[in-house]
Amino acid sequence: MKPIRSKTVLIRRKFLDSWFISRAGMNLYRGCVHDCLYCDGRSETYRVEGDFDRDAVYKENAVDVLARELDPRRRRKPFNPGYVFIGGGVSDSWQPAEKELKLTRRVLELFKIFPYPLLLLTKSSLILRDIDLLTALNAECRVTVAVSLSTVDERLSAILEPVASPPAERLEVVRKAKEAGLGAGVMLLPVVPMITDRPELLDASYTAAGEAGADFVAAGPMTLKQGRQWNHFMAGIEEHFPEAAAAYGKVYGAVPDRWGNPSSSYYEYFGPLVHEIASRHGLPRRIPARLFPDNLSEAERAMVILDQMGGLCRERGLTSTFGWAARSLSRLDVPLESPEGWKNLRMLGGVGSATERIIKEILDTGCSRSYERLLVGGNLSG
Ligand code: SF4
Repeated sequence: MKPIRSKTVLIRRKFLDSWFISRAGMNLYRGCVHDCLYCDGRSETYRVEGDFDRDAVYKENAVDVLARELDPRRRRKPFNPGYVFIGGGVSDSWQPAEKELKLTRRVLELFKIFPYPLLLLTKSSLILRDIDLLTALNAECRVTVAVSLSTVDERLSAILEPVASPPAERLEVVRKAKEAGLGAGVMLLPVVPMITDRPELLDASYTAAGEAGADFVAAGPMTLKQGRQWNHFMAGIEEHFPEAAAAYGKVYGAVPDRWGNPSSSYYEYFGPLVHEIASRHGLPRRIPARLFPDNLSEAERAMVILDQMGGLCRERGLTSTFGWAARSLSRLDVPLESPEGWKNLRMLGGVGSATERIIKEILDTGCSRSYERLLVGGNLSG
C-alpha cells in the first residue's frame, strides 16, 4: 500500500446526520482491500483514483495534520462535531495494512489529548487490537463501536465481502466492546436486494446481533450508483447470482437517481419487512438517545431525535413532519432553551402542537416517550 500526503484529514459537514450523529469524519485510507462487491466507495462520486481494492493508499501524515485540525487553540469558532466518525466512506480504517502501519491506532492516541466522542465503524475484527485504548478513551469521552454487516450468512458474506472478517468475528467485536463498557451496535448496511434481503436472512442477522448484546441494529438497503460501482457489482452478480441479475435494472436502473437509491416500490417491500422483524426483536433501529454524544446542544439533541423519528415513520409508510421540523431546528440560530428560541419554535416549519410537545419533553427529560416507542417498532402514542 502506497503512502500519500494530505493537506487536510477532517471532513466537516454543516449538518449533523441522524444515522451517525456526526458532522465530522475522516478517511485515513483511500480505497479498500476488503473488496466488497457492493462498495459504493468505488463510485466516481468519491474520486478515488486507480483500482479501488488494488491501489489503496494511506495518509502517512494524518496524525500531524489531525493534531492541528483538532487543536481548539487553532480555531476561531468552537468545534462541535457530535461524534467524530472514523470509518465508512471510501475505506475501512482497520483493513489488513493497518496491522503493520498502525495509522488508525496512532490517530486514536490523539483523542487522549483531544477527547471528542468517537463513533467507529468497521468490517474488521482487527479493531479488537485497540480495545484497551478505546476503553481508556471511553472513560474520558463516549466511544461507540459499530460493525457493518450485510448478512450473517457466512457463504454469502464470503462472496460479497471476500476479505472482510467473517460475520461471526464482527459480532465478536460487538460482544467484546460491550464487555469493555463501550456502546456497540450493528449497521446492517447494506442489505443487498435479491440476495441478503430475504426475511429469514434478515431475521438471522437481528437474532445474532441481539445475542451479541448490540445496543442497536440500523438497517438500510444498498445504494447502487451508475458507473464504476454498477459495473463492478453487476460483473460479480453475473458470475455468482446470474438468476438475480435482471432484477437490478428494475430496482435501480429504471429511473437512476444520483445517489443510487432503490426504487420506491423496493422501499415498499423493504420498509415494512424490516419494521416487522426489528419490532419482533425489540432492538433500537438507530443509535439510541442514551448513546448520543454529550457535546450535543439541546436543539441538536431534539433535531437528531426528530430526524430519526421522521426516517422511522417513512420506513413504515407513515407521513409525518418530523423530518421537516428537524431541518427547521437545525437552522435555528438562537439557543432553543432561551425565551427567544422557544418563541421562534412555534413559527418553525414542521412544528405543530404534537411536535412542540415532543420537543418540550426532550428539553425537560433529554428524550421522548413517543421516540422510544417508535425506535423499537412501537406506535407513536402509547
Ligand atoms: S469495508 Fe467498506 S470501504 Fe471497504 S470495500 Fe467494504 S464497503 Fe467498501
